[in-house]
Amino acid sequence: MGKPTLRIAHLYPDEMNIYGDRGNILTLQKRAEWRGITVVIDAIGRGPAPDLSGVDLIFWGGGQDRDQELVFKDAAEHKVGAIRRAIDGGAVVLAVCGGYQLLGESYVTADGKKLPGLGLVDLHTVPGPRRNIGNIVIETSHLGLTPPTLVGFENHSGKTYLGPGLQPLGRVLRGAGNNGDDGFEGVASGNIFGTYLHGSLLPKNPHLADLLIGRALRRRSQGALDALDDTVELAAHRAVVDRLVGAA
Ligand code: GLN
Repeated sequence: MGKPTLRIAHLYPDEMNIYGDRGNILTLQKRAEWRGITVVIDAIGRGPAPDLSGVDLIFWGGGQDRDQELVFKDAAEHKVGAIRRAIDGGAVVLAVCGGYQLLGESYVTADGKKLPGLGLVDLHTVPGPRRNIGNIVIETSHLGLTPPTLVGFENHSGKTYLGPGLQPLGRVLRGAGNNGDDGFEGVASGNIFGTYLHGSLLPKNPHLADLLIGRALRRRSQGALDALDDTVELAAHRAVVDRLVGAA
């Protein structure tokens, strides 16, 4: 069987792209190409959505409240049906910060405006009294990641709460995470991943990048992904963990 093609949809690259979020796309692209997998990236902005049924991985990043208002409206009007169909067909979703908030039922902006989300996952976000800004380390448990930690940078005032029974992406070791109260960070619901981790997320978390690529290609190819030399990426990861949480 020949190498599959990885099709990525990058939603709202102009409006939702802060703190290096585009680095996630570059990481996915490079890690696939280094394995001989062809990558096609479609940038999708506001307006009627193209058919996303052939897409393997959908990514969107974070944004300021002002941009989120534009995007949430557009997403509810033009994108939700196409995104749902892509997920039902096996696509993986990674949504960061403002994008993560969009996955849920609703997002209330810092000045009190309630924006309806896509309703793809049972979570909601309300404004908090302060911004949570800084480096963050979380520990995953159910994804089989080695190492189990993920590192990143968070900057949000929204406080996100998961509905009953939903798995967070991980447990906060350092930082605020979803809301600064319950110790959880992000969501991992089937193939839908939401997180507050910018940084960007994937360059320093190559194990998560591969989990996403592997799942995205599951319907197209049988075998496991070829191993890559992640010495540099994991050294960067480890340096953050050691500094913020202490060496094991
Ligand atoms: N505007 C949102 C908040 O402050 C999301 C910010 C972001 O994407 N960094 O909570």
